[in-house]
Amino acid sequence: MTEPVTTRPEDGEIPAGWGFSTKAIHVGQDPEATTGAVTVPVFQTSTFAQDAVGKHSGYEYARTGNPTRTALQTALAALEGASFGVSFASGLAAEDAILRLLEPGDHVVMGNDAYGGTFRLISKVFGRVGITWSAHDLTDPSALDAAWPDNTKLVWVETPTNPLLTVVDIAAVAAVTARRPEARLVVDNTFATPYLQQPLAYGADVVVHSTTKYLGGHSDVVGGFVATDDAEVHDHLAFVQNAVGAVPAPWDCYLTLRGAKTLAVRMDRHNSNAARIVELLVDHPKVHRVLWPGLESHPGHAAAKRQMSGYGGMVSFTTGSRESAMLVAESTELFTLAESLGAVESLIEHPGAMTHASAAGSPLEVPEDLVRLSVGIEDADDLVADLTQALDRIP
Ligand SMILES: *Cc1c(COP(=O)(O)O)cnc(C)c1O
Repeated sequence: MTEPVTTRPEDGEIPAGWGFSTKAIHVGQDPEATTGAVTVPVFQTSTFAQDAVGKHSGYEYARTGNPTRTALQTALAALEGASFGVSFASGLAAEDAILRLLEPGDHVVMGNDAYGGTFRLISKVFGRVGITWSAHDLTDPSALDAAWPDNTKLVWVETPTNPLLTVVDIAAVAAVTARRPEARLVVDNTFATPYLQQPLAYGADVVVHSTTKYLGGHSDVVGGFVATDDAEVHDHLAFVQNAVGAVPAPWDCYLTLRGAKTLAVRMDRHNSNAARIVELLVDHPKVHRVLWPGLESHPGHAAAKRQMSGYGGMVSFTTGSRESAMLVAESTELFTLAESLGAVESLIEHPGAMTHASAAGSPLEVPEDLVRLSVGIEDADDLVADLTQALDRIP
């Protein structure tokens, strides 16, 4: 059995000074050696021929390593500015691999409005094997410092959060975490993407993504990714990737890599379209509260401005009642009523009844009059017109 294929970009592979999109399009993606194919092929194979026993090209069995996956891991690691990247079959499989660093008796600190699936994984899966957790307001790092639970090994930050768009100051939480050498800081960077925010630069130890969302970007693939500079964490992740086997298929790696190439241009459009939608919402008489980190009135605006280069395409708002929130969510035509986010097409949903239903009755429960938008990259005028007609139906 060989070791898992390394995911470290080769020395000299990333010329100093390459910008984000150049990396997205070229790192790990040299033309294929035998045919010159310009795009990384889908290596749809489960096994690789060996010249002699144990003598092979670096690949022997596709759970352990596959060239399409290597290309994806190398490219995404470069986008996060990380030494190592490891891909998984879903965002939750990536989170699961990180959480397997823990042992019974260890504690996880998480934010009090984490993604529902993250909460379910930590509380219902890891909770059963003796991992404890607590939810904190991570916008107040000094309160976390004072309350620091015994045996905390991971601090799990999401910023901006799903679905309340709360912004956590990564550097401030990193400073609190760094006072405890046994603890590591994980940042779920799914909403911001590496184009808008690179958590390792602010002191995070581990970055996790649901690549299902903006990185894939086209609602056609489910995937997860972890980036880190910590060799110990990388060795653990590579071991779990092979030993547990929640690996992404070659075709899924291809689609994710294809999506990631256009991340920067898509994000610029998501940012500007969201800004237009926010203008509409702020002025609309039936809208109570608008949650978007780009608003100066947003409590996390200053932190967002420091650590993000744009405010993203996720916008949430409240309408005053569960009925009116449902009415808006069911009345749009261009905004499709669906879970998930981060793709070219605009989506609308009711978190309390859909994505975050599993958090009902927990400290992570969301307001019942909340509507969440994933603003796509269609023409902004068309999106504004669609949302206006839906809001105007509120009696
Ligand atoms: C979707 C999502 C996840 C889970 O990822 P999957 O690919 O659905 O498994 C984790 N974190 C955030 C913030 C998400 O939006």
